[in-house]
This record gives sequence, C-alpha cells and structure tokens, in this order.
Amino acid sequence: MTDTEPPADAARMFLGQDALSQRDDGFVIDCPECGSSTLLADVVREGRCSGYDDVTGCGADLWLELAWDS
Ligand SMILES: [Zn+2]
Repeated sequence: MTDTEPPADAARMFLGQDALSQRDDGFVIDCPECGSSTLLADVVREGRCSGYDDVTGCGADLWLELAWDS
C-alpha cells in the first residue's frame, strides 16, 4: 500500500486508450518495467505489478497520477 507521492525523479508515462486492455475483472496495463499485465486497481492498492512476487520478480514501485487542467 502506497499512500505517498512518487519521487520527483520517478519515470513517468502517459496512458492513452491504447495502453488499456479490458479483462473480466477490470482494466489492465502492461508494467513498464517487466510487461506483466496488471489491474489498474492493483497498481493503486498494492503499488506493484502482478509480476512482483511470482512471474518476473519485478521490483518496480508503481503509482498512478491523475492530472487535470481547469
Ligand atoms: Zn513489473
């Protein structure tokens, strides 16, 4: 669980429609580090991709940011 803001030097990417895939259990993105398909909700809740503790042993910390302009 990560409720802290990511470090300023964390790598960032914009997620457009092409970055999202829909599964029965929700929308998934590919981890930018290891490519594991990961639920958006798990990124928010766990701060890790689905490859973190099994498939790839991925060590990346993940966050989602919501940006807006008004
Ligand atoms: Zn990963």
